[in-house]
Amino acid sequence: MRRFKIAVLPGDGIGPEVMEGAILVLKAVEKVYDVEFQYRYADVGGAAIDRWGTPLPDETLMVCEESDAILFGSVGGPKWEHLPPDKQPERGALLPLRKHFDFFANLRYGKIYEPLIWASPLKKEVLGSGFDIMVVRELTGGIYFGKPRELKDDFAYDTMIYHKWEIERIAKVAFETASKRRGKVTSVDKSNVLYTSLLWRRTVEEVHRNYMDIELNHLYIDNAAMQLVKNPGQFDVILASNMFGDILSDEMAMITGSLGMLPSASINEERFGLYEPVGGTAPDIAGKGIANPVAQIMSAAMMLKYSFDMDEAYDRIDRAVAKTLDDGLRTRDIYSGKEGEKLVGTMEMASEIAKRVGDNNAQVR
Ligand code: NAD
Repeated sequence: MRRFKIAVLPGDGIGPEVMEGAILVLKAVEKVYDVEFQYRYADVGGAAIDRWGTPLPDETLMVCEESDAILFGSVGGPKWEHLPPDKQPERGALLPLRKHFDFFANLRYGKIYEPLIWASPLKKEVLGSGFDIMVVRELTGGIYFGKPRELKDDFAYDTMIYHKWEIERIAKVAFETASKRRGKVTSVDKSNVLYTSLLWRRTVEEVHRNYMDIELNHLYIDNAAMQLVKNPGQFDVILASNMFGDILSDEMAMITGSLGMLPSASINEERFGLYEPVGGTAPDIAGKGIANPVAQIMSAAMMLKYSFDMDEAYDRIDRAVAKTLDDGLRTRDIYSGKEGEKLVGTMEMASEIAKRVGDNNAQVR
């Protein structure tokens, strides 16, 4: 039997509610596969400030260090907004975690399950049968961290810098991710203008020589942003630098139309990762038991695939989510009121998904 330790950091707002749903699904996975998860809960964000006076207590960091992956909820909320920026839940917990574990690769997918095509702001003709894209974004370099940078009264500048090794390692993640998907990488740059992009393109092509079974094409960032709304179905994996990936992954989230469905992963060279929903703590609906647990459940699924190599379990959860939607179950954020839909709360949605993870009949599509 394989055993994994999971650091479970629910955080604030809807975090603990959707985390409970994700754990239910992981327990269903344990029943199907020869695997055992040890769940090690720890405080983070506002909850940790209230209890320990700091958003990332040493004990929490230790739990993360001693685990095989981190399953993260969301942190923050109005209660802690008066604190100085570095002491606030998001900056004070997520940034140090990223730095501590050198999470240089951020994986965010945008996917539309067929029954939710109506939720996308794009026209039906553009969407076809939907899309399933993974943005692989470089997270620790580029213009967000380049030095020197300066802000004066009458001028300001930032530095966009990439070292070849930084591009190599993120390109590898993109090609390896594509090899577990549909085998295509679109690398995004601005090599008609920027030197960093020239190095980016050249290096991506070099790394590609080790992955010749993967198809590679290049797009300028401006064209990529247009293509994403014109024909999203053409993309499999999009590889981008920190700033371009930041913008494109938000555009992609927007065109899915359902924030509560989107997971993400931040990983390092050892494939150790932090898995969390794209959305935040949703203070407007926190405590009501109505949040959509799918983003947290699929974050757990990504953890199985990218940190534990349990690709089949990932597919099983994905099919269970699709079947639950096909069967008409909806949390409020994805409810259209059409005939055949049933409005459910967080835990009912999660337990319906967990049930279908364990049910072989529900797995046939
Ligand atoms: P948000 O993502 O929390 O909410 C935006 C909208 O999406 C809200 O209407 C919310 O109800 C809805 N939503 C989000 N997730 C949902 C889900 N699972 N089910 C149903 N509806 C969902 O963004 P915000 O309002 O800008 O931020 C709220 C707080 O979350 C802030 O304190 C912010 O700092 C924090 N935040 C944290 C993270 C993180 O922990 N990584 C990320 C983003 C925002």
